[in-house]
Amino acid sequence: MTSDPKIIIALDFPAVQLALDFIAPLSPKDCRLKVGKELFTIGGSDFVKILTKKGFDVFLDLKFHDIPNTVAAACHAAADLGVWMINVHASGGRKMMETAANRLAQLNQPPLLIGVTILTSLSADEIHEIGFSGSPAENVLRLAKLADDSGLNGVVCSPLEAATVRQATHSHFKLITPGVRPKSAAMDDQTRVMTPADALQAGANYLVIGRPITAAKQPLEALNAIIAETL
Ligand code: C5P
Repeated sequence: MTSDPKIIIALDFPAVQLALDFIAPLSPKDCRLKVGKELFTIGGSDFVKILTKKGFDVFLDLKFHDIPNTVAAACHAAADLGVWMINVHASGGRKMMETAANRLAQLNQPPLLIGVTILTSLSADEIHEIGFSGSPAENVLRLAKLADDSGLNGVVCSPLEAATVRQATHSHFKLITPGVRPKSAAMDDQTRVMTPADALQAGANYLVIGRPITAAKQPLEALNAIIAETL
């Protein structure tokens, strides 16, 4: 049991009831929960409020990317749901990130505002096709520094990039890493992975983990085994 849970479970379920059945045995003391575009589109703000009412810290993973005023207003609306963490695309630019950060700074208990740098699903060729020069790693680093400079609280990055991003950003800057697989787990469709302990060692603050827990026969045992790996 931990008072500052490092594991954020990705609730990638296609129905609200499946997600509620899954979280029934879980405690907010042991994990945080991530709600992404699929489940939010299905369950909406009512579903998010059920989770926060149960005491869970919720990472609302909607990756906002729009003009500054629209993103700032969306961040404010997300904050009103009582979530713990929200995110925006760093490629939306400095003004978009600063406007969102400034809007949240006016609130009493703002959520952590996190940037998405380069989606790990993009290949080097696809990144060039969009118009970004340089390697994926160079782009991740540039956008992470821009997010830090623009007042964001951290970025989502691959655990393989964590050590480099950690060195180039302020010490309070949070690194959230998906692509984490416990020693015994299947890789699923993740290719660039690290174990939970190695990701934390590399500088990650929080680990986003989905299927190794959500698809486990005994999810609570799977979560506890991962927590044990990180102690
Ligand atoms: O099941 P798995 O552990 O692979 O789930 C990882 C979660 O993190 C999913 O919700 C996925 O969308 C998200 N994610 C990711 N890689 C990124 C960004 C987000 O796997 N680069």
